[in-house]
Amino acid sequence: SICWYDNAFLPEEEVRISPYDRGYNFGDGIYEVFRVYGGRLFEAEAHFERLRLSAEGLKLALPWGIEGLRAAMSELVERNALSEGTVYLQITRGVAPRNHLFPAGAAPVALAYTREVARPVQAMDQGISAITLEDIRWLHCNYKTLNLLANVLAKQEAAERGAADAVLHRNSTVTESSASNVMIVKDGVLVTHPANNLILHGVTRAVTLRLARAAEIPAEERPFSLDELYGADEAFVTGTTVEITPIVSVDGRKIGDGRPGPLTRRLQREFSAAIGLEQ
Ligand code: PLP
Repeated sequence: SICWYDNAFLPEEEVRISPYDRGYNFGDGIYEVFRVYGGRLFEAEAHFERLRLSAEGLKLALPWGIEGLRAAMSELVERNALSEGTVYLQITRGVAPRNHLFPAGAAPVALAYTREVARPVQAMDQGISAITLEDIRWLHCNYKTLNLLANVLAKQEAAERGAADAVLHRNSTVTESSASNVMIVKDGVLVTHPANNLILHGVTRAVTLRLARAAEIPAEERPFSLDELYGADEAFVTGTTVEITPIVSVDGRKIGDGRPGPLTRRLQREFSAAIGLEQ
């Protein structure tokens, strides 16, 4: 397929990445994953705003401007005739001899590609199992950086233990999962970790909270414990690719009756409707 690399659209075989790109040497960069529904970027505005904040957090310049990036992503979707899938965009601090200090002359390098992906209907319908793990990440989880080792290790451990995902916690406070945000429902109230430095401020999280408010479902953004997760009536993850996916068991214990709950179902329906509306 066609990639956008260093300001040009070119076939993936022609992308030549420098061994001295700081993305490789230091993980010195940021990224976004956009969902494309019906050929259009879903919640583009929110993703670009988060990208801007991530860049600011890493003191990384965006010489294209958000408008330039936005135009490039739309053109990439068009060139690949992508209808249902994702766009991956990453920006590194550029190419320079290896040295921790920011390079003086280097320009940031952007890479973007698309992928055809269907909605994860089976997981959304049946729910997934999760394990819990200590959240060992740094304290700027609100920046979407290329440094994903802790997330990679968590997801791998989940798989090796027969689970679909890992829910992370700091001293028994649930933060988020390896690649999505976590919400629980107790006595009709939706609860999710506050959008501070300990979690990624998920676009899908924000959409879900908005849908909950519109549906007059009470929602609280506050820390909650592992015990509250185990004892929840319902639990689910939110994310660009997983949308709203129920968690039906955690560490081998059933959540509620072990099936996706009614409030989760309601929000899933609202979410599907929201996708339709944006198109
Ligand atoms: N948390 C982490 C660690 C993630 O990697 C992601 C990415 O999908 C999310 C949460 C969910 O964010 P979003 O809904 O913007 O995709």
